[in-house]
Amino acid sequence: MKYVSVTGQSTSTFREALFSGTAPDGGLYVPETLPPFDASLLRENSESTLQSTATEILSPFVDEISRENLAAIISHALNFPIPLVNLQDNIYLLELFHGPTLAFKDVGARFMAQVMSHFLEHQQQDVTILVATSGDTGSAVAHGFYNVPHVEVFILYPSNRISPLQQQQMTTLGGNITAVEVEGTFDDCQRLVKASLNDGDLLHQRKITSANSINVGRLLPQISYHAWGLIQLRRLFNQNDDPMVVVPSGNFGNMTAAVYAKKMGVPIRNFIAATNANDVMLQYLRSGKFEPRPSIPTYSNAMDVGNPSNLSRLQALYRGDVQELKKDIDAVSISDEETLEEIRRTYDATGRILDPHTAVGVAAARKALEWTTNSPPIIVAATAHPAKFPDVVKKAIDIDVPLPVSLQAAQNSPTHFIAIRPRYSEWKNLLRRTRGNK
Ligand SMILES: *Cc1c(COP(=O)(O)O)cnc(C)c1O
Repeated sequence: MKYVSVTGQSTSTFREALFSGTAPDGGLYVPETLPPFDASLLRENSESTLQSTATEILSPFVDEISRENLAAIISHALNFPIPLVNLQDNIYLLELFHGPTLAFKDVGARFMAQVMSHFLEHQQQDVTILVATSGDTGSAVAHGFYNVPHVEVFILYPSNRISPLQQQQMTTLGGNITAVEVEGTFDDCQRLVKASLNDGDLLHQRKITSANSINVGRLLPQISYHAWGLIQLRRLFNQNDDPMVVVPSGNFGNMTAAVYAKKMGVPIRNFIAATNANDVMLQYLRSGKFEPRPSIPTYSNAMDVGNPSNLSRLQALYRGDVQELKKDIDAVSISDEETLEEIRRTYDATGRILDPHTAVGVAAARKALEWTTNSPPIIVAATAHPAKFPDVVKKAIDIDVPLPVSLQAAQNSPTHFIAIRPRYSEWKNLLRRTRGNK
């Protein structure tokens, strides 16, 4: 399988795309073709599991790795369940939050870590991974790469801008994970990372790459669980109608993976992009013009994105034809007030506590049902565990969500981080000091 830049200028192998992140022309990599989905996996008597489905789906994308090795990589990466549960009526939740950091980003981060480690092991090479994070990405990447041989990770996060739980998830691991608290904003963190990736002097000393959400190594594994959602819908709930799939979206990586699944032949009727007040996608579908905006802070803060990076991948897939894109994807924007209402409504009706991102998805699903004929089943991607967002949940239903046991352990562990000012010289010195210090 070849990977091409969305601009059409560069091509690469999976391995090159994985280690370089973006193409030399600055575009995002996309697979050159989308291999067909094996529909026999949907049969009732099929014995497919999440892991076997993922191996089936990913092996044509990653043909540089033998199927046997890929299966082993996947069983390490996807070592937690992704169940489909019925929420209410025709609405189902695909629970993507049973990984170590309780958000769906664990899937992409863990797969990326395992495939990188596989390649590095064969090349006997070491790599330094830099991540700028406003919260969820950093914790998923830190956990995904923890103790992975040949890899050293630096997570840069803005001081006082992330939740205590997120900070704890990044700073209690130690080992090959260094947490760097930058006295500045997320943009400062990103600037420092970008500057290092372009610093010839540093690159001369070590192999450096980034692990941000645009990496194909994070995108592709997400296709698997959208197929797995369909398999469960048929197998456990005998629902044979093609579902509508709702994806709470920020950078639209999860949505892009879902659309890839449909294009490969996973029987999905259409999609709803559920966003908070950051509704550039909705505006794009209405006007046909993509106009990035500064992000607005909301309760579903992992979706506070004003310039979604994966839009270029969706545009490439539909050859820039917004009318074609609209046949498959609709968008609904949900306010903070509606988010709280949905957490309340779902709790009162079902006893289930939604995190604010999933609540945006469920609220969007209810709206979409109002204008959709013959009410198809709806699968909402449940992107985070409510315990990650205790303040919003408390505000909605006045309940303290108990912390899962896995996170309670981290609460008592000592934290380690290095604080720096947002200056490149300071950051570079830090990187230099830790050279070879593994
Ligand atoms: C990152 C994140 C999202 C947004 O996913 P994208 O792939 O960026 O659209 C939604 N919900 C949660 C909980 C997240 O962490």
